[in-house]
Amino acid sequence: MATDPAAELPFFYGSISRSEAEEHLKLAGMADGLFLLRQCLRSLGGYVVSLVWNVEFHHYSVEKQLNSTYCIAGGKPHCGPAELCEFYSNDSDGLVCTLRKPCLRSPDNPIRAGVFDNLRDNMLREYVRQTWNLEGEAMEQAIISQAPQLEKLIATTAHERMPWYHSKIPRQEGERRLYSGAQPDGKFLIRDREESGTFALSLMYGKTTYHYQILHDKSGKYSMPEGTKFDTVWQLVEYLKMKPDGLVTVLREPCTHMIFLPKPTHTQITKCVFLYIYIYIYLFLPLFLPNFVVSNYRPMLPMDCSEFVNPYHDPNDLKKFFINRDQLMIDEVELGSGNFGCVKKGVFKTNKGHTDVAIKVLKSENEKLVKDEMMREAEIMHQLSNPYIVRMLGLCQAECLMLVMEMASVGPLNKFLSTNKDKVTVENIVGLMHQVSMGMKYLEEKNFVHRDLAARNVLLVNQQFAKISDFGLSKALGADDNYYKARTAGKWPLKWYAPECMNFHKFSSKSDVWSFGVTMWEAFSYGGKPYKKMKGPEVISFIASGSRMECPSGCPDRMYALMKDCWTYKHEDRPGFVKVEECMRVFYYSISNKTPPEVTADAAEPLK
Ligand code: ADP
Ligand code: MG
Repeated sequence: MATDPAAELPFFYGSISRSEAEEHLKLAGMADGLFLLRQCLRSLGGYVVSLVWNVEFHHYSVEKQLNSTYCIAGGKPHCGPAELCEFYSNDSDGLVCTLRKPCLRSPDNPIRAGVFDNLRDNMLREYVRQTWNLEGEAMEQAIISQAPQLEKLIATTAHERMPWYHSKIPRQEGERRLYSGAQPDGKFLIRDREESGTFALSLMYGKTTYHYQILHDKSGKYSMPEGTKFDTVWQLVEYLKMKPDGLVTVLREPCTHMIFLPKPTHTQITKCVFLYIYIYIYLFLPLFLPNFVVSNYRPMLPMDCSEFVNPYHDPNDLKKFFINRDQLMIDEVELGSGNFGCVKKGVFKTNKGHTDVAIKVLKSENEKLVKDEMMREAEIMHQLSNPYIVRMLGLCQAECLMLVMEMASVGPLNKFLSTNKDKVTVENIVGLMHQVSMGMKYLEEKNFVHRDLAARNVLLVNQQFAKISDFGLSKALGADDNYYKARTAGKWPLKWYAPECMNFHKFSSKSDVWSFGVTMWEAFSYGGKPYKKMKGPEVISFIASGSRMECPSGCPDRMYALMKDCWTYKHEDRPGFVKVEECMRVFYYSISNKTPPEVTADAAEPLK
């Protein structure tokens, strides 16, 4: 994932410095309007346009907003660097001139990767793997669902993985480390300052150590006193390698954080043990506790809850389809009820600890039909493993047949929305429905049809985290089939069903897409009832006549447009979940965490 969106542009140079950019422009002839694009070293995901006019260089920084648009401060937002450059090639809009002639990168001059480019993907994966205990496809999905927030989070802690970062050591210890070994000018390290939780830079020059405090302003930017401001500490360090920005010298060689292991002689073995503990605490513990390290400043993410464990993490668990009765404690509290019986709260005890669970309990034990139904539901759930689908932990056959599932304690989405209207923003709803679309995309890919997707069957773990549940009507399709044909109509949720379900009893992922549209409508109308006063058969003729439900008030146009796409009459013309998920994701990223660009009076000026 995550190649630079400018990578395709022939005038993009990657992470080069300002003076290198000027060299390239000089070599290319310094014509008016000659320009190139490079990575911005100050702001995350940002760029700089370097432009020639009147035999002078002008550098304009392009900021990337959290909503993934790009703009030159004071200018219009654009959806990508290519679109931005195209715009300014037609309209100077505040620049000294239009971008007339691209300064093309020669083939022997590849795009230079930035420090973070090489780290980002691995760090994202490592973070998700460690904090959320995920692997494989589930991990990729969690990354997709939270990419903008995660990238920012990872970038702001990236310095912890750099060789020059020494975490919390006293000033004297910093000096001691700089003086050990060679002492070239520019040797440096970064450490946490003891008192204030800010950073300090210790720097060697002329065999003397200089200490500088790194400022951290209210908007979260890092800088040297009166120097250029950066989003992250590592960007500041990269910049100071090129420009002294007030220091006695530029940064050169990092003083690396090395620990020399003593020979494990008799007397030193105890010391050695301590040293290993020390190494563990310093180097590895932060990997396991990133939540702890970063909890001060990041917003809550969906998986920040104990429920987010993969019960099949241990492959041996897969075999344990059946749960022993003595591993279960069943509460009297009823979470909900249905035709089959009721769902109760409980606790599942394993040697790894106790987990809250929801237990579907059959009421009429003798009815073989109901029992078979529940077995089928369990069989389906057993084959699914996705963060956005309620996981089954197993079946328990005791006083009655019980299906044990992970707990989604906040309950059905429609109820939550109708009772918490004032607490839930549109962005929150878009995020939740994006998660549902990811869960459905997974089902589609695995060739399962849900057949009962509705807001009542989307359960919340917390306000930011949704899971699809209720696989009572679900079917696994044969490898060559793309639909399921029901022989007889049953007690069907007609208002959620596509025309081909009612007319031909044909169920496919495309009919689930129709239901997804209705579920979206329910969500954006805060738990409203679809086709309010109509009865099932009336809805059929309403749809056949070409009518559709109206846009819920406050629902974004793009979301209503997607609902209507989901309600395309012919299933052949209806989008699949790959499309639907992409559409939800693009819209979610475009509105999530929207931070307006910082516009200052001098912001449109070329960088100094
Ligand atoms: P039905 O097939 O009767 O609709 P559901 O599986 O939808 O059965 O469960 C009925 C109700 O039980 C849900 O609406 C919800 O309130 C509660 N419930 C079901 N599963 C869970 C769970 N995993 N966590 C919390 N509550 C649940
Ligand atoms: Mg249900």
